[in-house]
Amino acid sequence: MAEFFSFFWIVPTHGFRWVRAKDEHTGVEEDYLATSEPEDIATYRAYLPLHMFTGLFRTFADTPPTKEGILHFANKYGHLCEMQYVVPVDYKGRQARAAAEPLSFWQQQIWDMRLAVELWDAVQARDVAALGRRLTWTEGPGGTGILYDTHLTGDSGEPRYTEWIAAPNIHPERLKRFARGDLVMPALYRLQRVVNEHLRGQLSPVLGWDEHGSNLGLHVFPQSLIGALWLQFARAITGRKAYRRCEECGTWFEVSPEAARTNRIYCSNACRTKAYRRRKVQAQEMYAAGKTVTEIAEALGSDEATVAGWIKEEA
Ligand SMILES: [Zn+2]
Repeated sequence: MAEFFSFFWIVPTHGFRWVRAKDEHTGVEEDYLATSEPEDIATYRAYLPLHMFTGLFRTFADTPPTKEGILHFANKYGHLCEMQYVVPVDYKGRQARAAAEPLSFWQQQIWDMRLAVELWDAVQARDVAALGRRLTWTEGPGGTGILYDTHLTGDSGEPRYTEWIAAPNIHPERLKRFARGDLVMPALYRLQRVVNEHLRGQLSPVLGWDEHGSNLGLHVFPQSLIGALWLQFARAITGRKAYRRCEECGTWFEVSPEAARTNRIYCSNACRTKAYRRRKVQAQEMYAAGKTVTEIAEALGSDEATVAGWIKEEA
């Protein structure tokens, strides 16, 4: 196993909850994500995010930036970084201080990842319409330049943000590299900037073992889950990796040839088994409701022999 994949993260066994609190240092009142149990009695499970979830950055990008969506993600994959905020929490009448992460921080991180992934997808697909939603050649400082604009409303953490990627008076050296009207190169510059911004401070260089465990090499290693997600995304960009969303659970996973997987529709054997069982029950229910074997096979994308077998099992 390459060093990169040995990164582990912990998740509290009883998950997280939202608390309304004031940060002790800033005094700002906000919703904070804190462990469901006081830290002195909380228990944790450890897992290997990069090894087990090869497309986790995409799952994160897809997470609804709501309290519900974030809680669901956190209960499965853990908090994002070393929690710097300390807030007072009422644990069933017992007052305690807890490390916590503000809702606004989560929302910003999800949006940053979502916008970056969307931009990368548009670059790979050479999707001019999608690129044009965020990038515009227009009049800027000193003449025509290329502007990045999220064009978002600013609600629920949506980042309302503009930045000149290049104009005659801003990074003129870049302007020379761009063909007028091109959106792909400017998008890559935007991606480079946002990924680097997020990698900064979240990774450290380490001497680690190669895949065979025989040679030491210089690696970067994440120090937090959010660092791991951006590193995974950075590797997706440099490795031009492809991903698919599990039809059963919605988790993203890598489908590149190097991620040798026998199963290409589901993220895991567990999901494949679950989907199979679900289809079987569905077939039996449809049969009981009077559908023919042919109709059922067509509806479930299966063949008649398989469907007939399932119905026989039930009878
Ligand atoms: Zn799955």
